[in-house]
Amino acid sequence: EAALEAVDLTRRYQLDGVAVEALRGVSLRIGPGEFVAIIGPSGSGKSTLMHLLGCLDQPTSGRLRVNGVEMSQLSDTQLAELRNKTIGFVFQSFHLLARTTALENVALPLVYRGVGKAERRARARAALESVGLGHRMDHRPSQMSGGEQQRVAIARALVGQPKVLLADEPTGNLDTRNGAEVMAILDRLNSDSGVAVVLVTHEPEVAEHARRQIHVRDGLIELDTAERNPA
Ligand code: ADP
Ligand code: ADP
Repeated sequence: EAALEAVDLTRRYQLDGVAVEALRGVSLRIGPGEFVAIIGPSGSGKSTLMHLLGCLDQPTSGRLRVNGVEMSQLSDTQLAELRNKTIGFVFQSFHLLARTTALENVALPLVYRGVGKAERRARARAALESVGLGHRMDHRPSQMSGGEQQRVAIARALVGQPKVLLADEPTGNLDTRNGAEVMAILDRLNSDSGVAVVLVTHEPEVAEHARRQIHVRDGLIELDTAERNPA
């Protein structure tokens, strides 16, 4: 069963009465445990595609299945529930709570799922250890480097054991060394836990870390390396 399966997705925005066609018919299938980079120039539709794949936005037309479930048939509540259970998100600017320790940031998604305090702390600690931050549990974001903050965000995205990790420009605010370290961690977590990783980037050097590249241009897929080297 595919982790993500999109058929002919389109997304049109209205901007001051003018229609902008951000996606013009995108179909793709991402299997469980894949490691995929969506790459393309600024304005090509990458973020729009990422938001659709993450069910943060609805397509104008087309179909999306996440882990075998047809998204268009769900109510908003069901959609939010499925999203929380199935998808983890990582953003360029980390989005950590500033007044809160690394451990509490990582444990937060488990609060919404009704996991008890002791188990939350144990799972958050294990997630932080898995990104090499066992020694930073009680630090706040301002006491950590950008690379460390992004690793906390990755731990938070994975603490609920999602099927898919969606990362929008995860290295965009990092220098080359920290960016490479974050990519190495994503690579290892993908291999170890089998979570499918889908990241968006405009940097070819970042995309090369993934095992499959999907090139987007003008709202269409212009090249998918899985079709060149089928698994
Ligand atoms: P990328 O992530 O590749 O930079 P985006 O998906 O952000 O591309 O944008 C694709 C196109 O859609 C661009 O032309 C952009 O200006 C337009 N667009 C994106 N979001 C909106 C929006 N909320 N309203 C209007 N136009 C948008
Ligand atoms: P960045 O600049 O780091 O990519 P943005 O603040 O632009 O981050 O966020 C990217 C998109 O993701 C925005 O449309 C925002 O509404 C959405 N977003 C940000 N944080 C979350 C979150 N925790 N859960 C769901 N959507 C989010």
